[in-house]
Amino acid sequence: MSIPNPQQLAHTLKEYFGYDRFRPLQEEIITTVFSGKDTMVIMPTGGGKSICFQLPALLLPGVTLVISPLIALMKDQVDGLVANGINAAYLNSSQNSSEQEHIHTQLRNKEIRLLYLAPESLSLFEPMLSEIEVSLIAIDEAHCISAWGHDFRPAYTQLGYLKKRFLNIPIIALTATADKATRTDICTQLNIPDAIPFIASFDRSNLSLEVRPGNKRIEQILNFIKERPKDSGIIYCLSRKGTESLAEKLKVNGIDAAAYHAGIPHEKRAKTQDNFINDTLQIVCATVAFGMGIDKSNVRWVIHYNLPKNIEGYYQEIGRAGRDGVPSATLLFHSYADVVQLQKFADAASNKEIQLAKLDRMKQYADALSCRRKILLSYFGELIQEDCGNCDVCLNPPKFIDGTVIAQKALSTITRIKEQEAISTVIDIMRGSQNATIYDKGYQSVKTYGIAKDISWNDWQQYMIQLINQGYIEIAFHQNNRLKLTTLAKKVLFEGEKISLAKLSEFEKVK
Ligand code: ADP
Ligand code: ZN
Repeated sequence: MSIPNPQQLAHTLKEYFGYDRFRPLQEEIITTVFSGKDTMVIMPTGGGKSICFQLPALLLPGVTLVISPLIALMKDQVDGLVANGINAAYLNSSQNSSEQEHIHTQLRNKEIRLLYLAPESLSLFEPMLSEIEVSLIAIDEAHCISAWGHDFRPAYTQLGYLKKRFLNIPIIALTATADKATRTDICTQLNIPDAIPFIASFDRSNLSLEVRPGNKRIEQILNFIKERPKDSGIIYCLSRKGTESLAEKLKVNGIDAAAYHAGIPHEKRAKTQDNFINDTLQIVCATVAFGMGIDKSNVRWVIHYNLPKNIEGYYQEIGRAGRDGVPSATLLFHSYADVVQLQKFADAASNKEIQLAKLDRMKQYADALSCRRKILLSYFGELIQEDCGNCDVCLNPPKFIDGTVIAQKALSTITRIKEQEAISTVIDIMRGSQNATIYDKGYQSVKTYGIAKDISWNDWQQYMIQLINQGYIEIAFHQNNRLKLTTLAKKVLFEGEKISLAKLSEFEKVK
């Protein structure tokens, strides 16, 4: 089929979706789809991926198959399309045979433009598919195919057969979350090595970014909500129990909140979600199970009560705020207790190295002393020149001091105790503490014992974190979190290299 001209495309966009213009990349992607080439679309949540296959589906002669991981998500998309006057349907094993037969008939009569299927049901409906003309195959949430991604679904791995089964039918793979390794893996596994990549900007400049130390979280959250008493928001927690106790605490304080996690009975969960979408529930305290496929444009803020396990997840979750482009706030609480917990989870995973590395990047982001948006975007391979002006670091930049002497004290203490201790004991030694560990191990005779009493314990902790982030010290997670020196540290100790550290009174102000 020939490629529709820009006027036709714009006309279809207006007629069926009501939009006056394409968002960045949508038109280029659609034109490439019409040229018959495979495409790989990386666009942030809310970027407008769906139109990239829904619009072609309206103009192509045959059906567009859409592979999508969640049945609930399919239903929402199909309902939305039908409401726009587009004939779409989904097939899954929950339907009875007469429902399926009805769709089958419509397919035969070429009445259906888009057919949604879960990867698990493909083989079940294979006989039906051989009777119909397929023009395009869209694979939504394509990162689910990759064990490198953060949301691996084994059923997705069968999808590689589609390219062989539907020879010459273009495939469009779409995802919001894929670093470079995942992108390559997706294309390899789907047998579309020559897919044309389209990587949209991940910058969501209307979202403010803020990270705070995770102490007195409840108090901080209550104040945060008080400043925006009517705004809808989501609070992500690590555990199911965490969502429930937080929702309880908010309710006790007169705030309209409910918990959401996969362990809550389906009906109640669906009701919570509906109420939130329809603005009759202000706040959802949820695990990451909440939000996939939820199309609510006026979420004004997202809080992470706990540190997420990777940047992909974090970015997807904060991406649920401000889809309408209106300024929206995001707040992440950072605590070392969370880091330790997440390390344990990662340790137990089969792809432990990958997970630990991803967690490390997350931690670096939370500890960052430079523009956070730059760090986020560079994670996704996008480099911006200017600092963003809409993150806490940009708004309250740290002042730097010459930290060489501070660093030398810490590094030489670590050397003298032969890299045997974790952060707290190292600080105790420098501060001349008189606790049992010190005396048991004879650390009171270490040459640097009591060398830095003038710096408070908390400030020391912050300085140590900075030294870790700047790469002078490493934490040996598998050896009781002992601190070790890196080769960079030698330069400071023996070659007179200077170190800058962020002045801590600035941190206090942010807190
Ligand atoms: P994604 O799948 O990338 O998360 P969606 O396809 O659900 O994003 O689109 C996000 C929102 O943006 C939806 O409400 C959609 O209707 C809207 N949208 C998509 N394309 C356009 C456009 N060209 N103009 C205005 N709104 C758009
Ligand atoms: Zn910034």
